[in-house]
Amino acid sequence: MKAPSSRAYSFRLALENLYRGVTLYRVHCLRNFSSFVARTNTCGELRSAHVGQKVTLYGWIQYQRQGLFLVLRDFQGLTQIIIPQDEARSHVKELLSSAPVESVVRVTGVVSLRPPGQENPKMPTGDIEVKVETAEVLNSCKKLPFEIKDFIKKSEALRMQYRYLDLRSFQLQYNLRLRSQIVMRMREYLCNLHGFVDVETPTLFKRTPGGAKEFLVPSREAGKFYSLPQSPQQFKQLLMVGGLDRYFQVARCYRDEGSRPDRQPEFTQIDIEMSFVDQNGIQRLIEGLLQYSWPEDRSPVTTPFPSMTYEEALADYGTDKPDTRFGMKIVDISDFSQRLGIHFVQNALSYPHGTVKAICIPQGMVSDIFTYSVRFMPDGSLKSLLTKFLGQEQQSELIQELKMQVDDVVLLAAGEHKRCSALGSLRLESADLLEAAGLVLRDPAVFHFLWVVDFPLFLPKEDNPTELESAHHPFTAPHPSDTSLLYSDPTKVRSQHYDLVLNGSEVGGGSIRIHNAELQRFVLEKVLKEDSEVLSHLLDALEFGAPPHGGIALGLDRLISLIVGAQSIRDVIAFPKSFRGRDLMGNAPDYVTAEELEPYHIQVSWPVAEAEAKKN
Ligand code: ASP
Repeated sequence: MKAPSSRAYSFRLALENLYRGVTLYRVHCLRNFSSFVARTNTCGELRSAHVGQKVTLYGWIQYQRQGLFLVLRDFQGLTQIIIPQDEARSHVKELLSSAPVESVVRVTGVVSLRPPGQENPKMPTGDIEVKVETAEVLNSCKKLPFEIKDFIKKSEALRMQYRYLDLRSFQLQYNLRLRSQIVMRMREYLCNLHGFVDVETPTLFKRTPGGAKEFLVPSREAGKFYSLPQSPQQFKQLLMVGGLDRYFQVARCYRDEGSRPDRQPEFTQIDIEMSFVDQNGIQRLIEGLLQYSWPEDRSPVTTPFPSMTYEEALADYGTDKPDTRFGMKIVDISDFSQRLGIHFVQNALSYPHGTVKAICIPQGMVSDIFTYSVRFMPDGSLKSLLTKFLGQEQQSELIQELKMQVDDVVLLAAGEHKRCSALGSLRLESADLLEAAGLVLRDPAVFHFLWVVDFPLFLPKEDNPTELESAHHPFTAPHPSDTSLLYSDPTKVRSQHYDLVLNGSEVGGGSIRIHNAELQRFVLEKVLKEDSEVLSHLLDALEFGAPPHGGIALGLDRLISLIVGAQSIRDVIAFPKSFRGRDLMGNAPDYVTAEELEPYHIQVSWPVAEAEAKKN
């Protein structure tokens, strides 16, 4: 693709910034939280400038003290409410002092300055209070399963069972509101600035070969099932064949992968597809999109994002999603080790992928955990179980090879490794240990984006390494310079697949697609040994003038959880499923009766019988 001239590029950026500025200004001026309702203000809005105004607030009682005052809370903040003490308003006092915490109330009163010395600088509304004249308890709250205070610890199972109460916490309110704002900006950027069309695609569809396991949905046709799509992949490609040119969707996706930590059976992707684009075009689009929608109170995103090949990522970090916020790269010391003449090291090196690799942990001596490692002592010597095998010269060579400093610790691994995944995990665990010992390696305020490119098109299947599976999905195009290898040695073909990594987590992935039916059929049938019949509609479509196209999907839940620094993606989803894929609030999945199953021609033996028994 032709790179835009730098003048055209800066003009476009200037326009984007202007648009962003104008939009933000309009949002600030126009956002009216009290339109269409009887409240005059939210509980986070009042300041000393409002003193003297008569206001009506609606909110939940956060706290009530001795019939004198209460703190009212809504999504935006807290306001102190003074309960009247005079005889004429004794019914208001009675009402407000007997209402339990978390009851929902309306109060009307006058904003006044707090008496001198009683201001609370920690509260944005801490200069004022509202002297109540009338009040109404709209609904009383029964005994709570937990207090609605962010600092009170509660089990996640309880939080999920009463998710509607947990949602009242400031943290979840903040997370969901920020998510909504980011998605809004993404829409603006894609649709208003770059001509994307928001298209909804079906969620009842059929099985897609390869990739994740899909959920089945029974149909009324005996023996036939829908599948819930793991992503709108086929539809977005078909939209390109349909001439939509630029598609985007906040897409709900489903994967039945059983219980996996920090995964959800249903999740959301920002799904994108474009015609006539190459890898560079998609990458620049995503960088612009993230920059435009990035929250203003976070450290800014700088573009272009650095890029690394899959091979480099595995060699240097032992993973295809490297956390590049800190060094401690894996170093291959096979050549050096070969010269040592240590029997077990040479044995390891004699295997086809035999290597000796190391990571140097700066100041690793701060943690006692690294006992079986090579330590660089203040007297200039190395201390390790291995040093008896090393002469003075070899010790100095190792120190130089790994650029060791005093107090550093080195971890070594010898064996048959291709991917170095063990050292990759060790690197991350070492970082955790160093941080637990007080060193700061990964500043939570810093965001390191990274493109990982040049993945292999196919990888050996984990359960049967003699067969191949797609590293991304079967629609990914081969790297243009490797296409001919597809027919001779498919394992050597690199792909036009790119992943976006943020602070060591994969937050997106996509590819340039195969738009040639013959090539697609070859990949499906000959390389992947899939039945191409299930994809006949797509193969057909590719023969009707399908444009070259490519796309990407960003994992919205993961992205937002990294931006807000949440412990888990469940903290940025309104109603998440538990680790085992259950909805603990509504208790889904649930049994259905034999009658309900009949139209689907399905019979379940014991669970239904058991459920029936439970009901009776
Ligand atoms: N559909 C792919 C996924 O969900 C992303 C893409 O290739 O656009 O991972």
